[in-house]
Amino acid sequence: MSTIFTQIIEGEIPARIVYEDGTTVAFLDANPLAPGHTLVVPRDEFERLDDVPADVATDLYETIHRMVPAVEDAVDADATTVAFNNGEAAGQEVPHVHCHIVPRFEGDGGGPIHAIAGDRPDLADDELDDIAADIESRA
Ligand code: 5GP
Repeated sequence: MSTIFTQIIEGEIPARIVYEDGTTVAFLDANPLAPGHTLVVPRDEFERLDDVPADVATDLYETIHRMVPAVEDAVDADATTVAFNNGEAAGQEVPHVHCHIVPRFEGDGGGPIHAIAGDRPDLADDELDDIAADIESRA
């Protein structure tokens, strides 16, 4: 069963496609958080960011880099929030990697990316040291 985004890419369901190349496609979000809200996806289905092969990740970032100014200019945005919901617990509903480009406007009432988390943890220095060391060892 292919994802809704694959169905869009294959032309089985309509979408407002704004850019496509050999590995990536960008189209307007059907339920926009702001005018111009755009999704950038790899053509092939990968569920999470770490499933995406390095060469496709490079192309995906290149398309994001191309689309951010295009979107901002098209809707005269002051800024953009650019983000991935990576995994169900983070709010990912469509299991096909997609980058949200959400235009932002002065006084739009939205928050920064820091607003997405729940209660902030109170971490001691030694816990931070351990976490940093653990991440570093896996990078
Ligand atoms: P997620 O929560 O997985 O990060 O975001 C999925 C996004 O896909 C949502 O913003 C939602 O509005 C968008 N979306 C879901 N179904 C469709 C569709 O059929 N067409 C388009 N263009 N966007 C969709």
